[in-house]
Amino acid sequence: MDSYYMNDLDIPWRRAVVSVDQFSRADIDEIFGLAARLSVGRTMPLTGKSLVNLFYEPSTRTSSSFYAAMTRLGGSVIPINEVNYSSVTKGESLEDTIRTLECYADALVLRHYDEDATERAVSVASVPLINAGNGAGEHPTQALLDLYTISKERGHIDGLTITLMGDLKHGRTVHSLVKLLRMYDVKLNFVSPQELSLPSSYLMSGDSEYLDLDPVIEDTDILYVTRVQRERLADTMVIDFSYAVTRDDMDRAKENLVLMHPLPRVGEIPPELDSDPRAAYFRQMKYGLHVRMALLVSMIGRD
Ligand code: ASP
Repeated sequence: MDSYYMNDLDIPWRRAVVSVDQFSRADIDEIFGLAARLSVGRTMPLTGKSLVNLFYEPSTRTSSSFYAAMTRLGGSVIPINEVNYSSVTKGESLEDTIRTLECYADALVLRHYDEDATERAVSVASVPLINAGNGAGEHPTQALLDLYTISKERGHIDGLTITLMGDLKHGRTVHSLVKLLRMYDVKLNFVSPQELSLPSSYLMSGDSEYLDLDPVIEDTDILYVTRVQRERLADTMVIDFSYAVTRDDMDRAKENLVLMHPLPRVGEIPPELDSDPRAAYFRQMKYGLHVRMALLVSMIGRD
């Protein structure tokens, strides 16, 4: 398997969300429309349904937002956030764990450190499954919520200049978002040190790569910042790259810039920028709740 791309998936996204490659623009419009309706509604379409959250890697936002989404819609959740306390430590395979947990659930959310874990899980799962991050591969639900944030904050996606900065090599949210953005008429800039640049399989003609934010900050509509994924670096790798967004950058940026980050941040955006109305990273999480509600309703809300 190509280590960065999971292409040519023949699985309908309502059965399993593995990669953003599964979505068309029409699907995205449908999900965003439903997300907007669910954000104001008070219906409980998932009453009696249950979800298993199975996380082999740490998570704050993704696991709790799926939990909140499911319970707001009337459903229940079995949270397995710390597989170290499960039979995984006894040597149970991913396949057996999936087969076990699906007996108790109408859907599964899986985060795993292996890039091929989602596809392995999907091959044995008989209930809908959602990829909540597969190593440095993809994070499709994060990309959908990132795109939703852009469309909510700016009212449109086409025509924007979007700058992605940080660890573009290992950042799965970046990989999924870049692929989704290819469906729109956008200009993409990539800012990273050489060692953490975007894998060439994601690059297209018209893209621009930089080592510094300076040349692009003034033209940028959306600035998407990510942390260095230290857990995915070889122990010996030393990255000499500091890229905190500064007050000076914000002074030079457009008045309607949207500053985003999938979080956690570890110094890339100093807290003193949080009060800037252009800082959208906390609103981004709220949008994420609505997108995940829409996905759950679409996948298990109908009999
Ligand atoms: N929370 C995001 C992820 O799981 C971003 C990050 O960890 O840097 O990929």
